Amino acid sequence: MNFSKPISLIVTLFLIFFSFNSSAHSCEWETYHCPIDGTEVSFCATVSMYVEGRKRDMQKFGAVGSYYKELVNSCHTCYFSGYISDFEKDYSENEISALRTWIKKNISEPKDEADEYAICARIQEFNNASPDVIADTWLMGSYMLKGVSEEKERRKAMQLKAACYFEEAASAYQCEEKQLCAIYKYVAAEMYRRADFFKDALFWYEKAKQDPDLPEWLSEMNTEQQKLAVNNDNRNDV
Ligand SMILES: [Zn+2]
Repeated sequence: MNFSKPISLIVTLFLIFFSFNSSAHSCEWETYHCPIDGTEVSFCATVSMYVEGRKRDMQKFGAVGSYYKELVNSCHTCYFSGYISDFEKDYSENEISALRTWIKKNISEPKDEADEYAICARIQEFNNASPDVIADTWLMGSYMLKGVSEEKERRKAMQLKAACYFEEAASAYQCEEKQLCAIYKYVAAEMYRRADFFKDALFWYEKAKQDPDLPEWLSEMNTEQQKLAVNNDNRNDV
C-alpha cells in the first residue's frame, strides 16, 4: 500500500485492522515541488503504522504517529496545499495560472495543520473535485483540532463543511457504490451532531438506519450515536 497517496475514507474504511512488521509509526522524508512556483515542499510519507481501530468520526487510532499531519502540506511561498498526489499531478498552464490567481486572492499563510487542510479543501472546491474527496479533507482537517477547546468553533465549522459534502456524496446520483452511500449517510449524521445540527443529524442517522447496505459493524454505532443526537449531545471526544 502506498501511504503517500491521499488515502480516502472509501478505501480505508475496509482496512480497519491492519498492521505491518513494525508496531510503531514510521515515515520517510520526500521532497516534492509546488506546481505553482516550484518551491520545495517536504512530506514525511508513512512507511509503517499500526491501526487499532477507528473513532466514531472514522479517525484511525493506534500507533499512527504523524500520519494525519503529514498527509497534507503547504508550499511556504504561495501556500498551495495538498496531498502528495496534488504536488505530483501534471497541471496545464491554464490550470496553474487560474490556481495562482485564485490562491493569491483568497489564501493567506496557514497558521497550523488544520489550516493546511482547509486550504487543500478549498482548492479542491475550486477545482470541482468530487464531493467525497472534499468531504474527506474537511473531515481529516477537523481531527487536527480535536480536544482543543479554544478552537471548538473552528472545528465545528470544518465538520459542518464535511457534513454537507458527505450528504452530497450520499445522494443517489452521486454515489455509485451502495455500501459507501450508506456509510456516507452515517458520517454526515455524525458530523452534523458534532456541529450542533441535531435535526439534520437525526435525519441522516435515520437514513443510514433504513439503508439495507449499511455494514453491520456500523449499524450498532449508528444506533448509539443517534441516541446522543436525541439528547442534543455534541460530544467530540469519541
Ligand atoms: Zn508554491
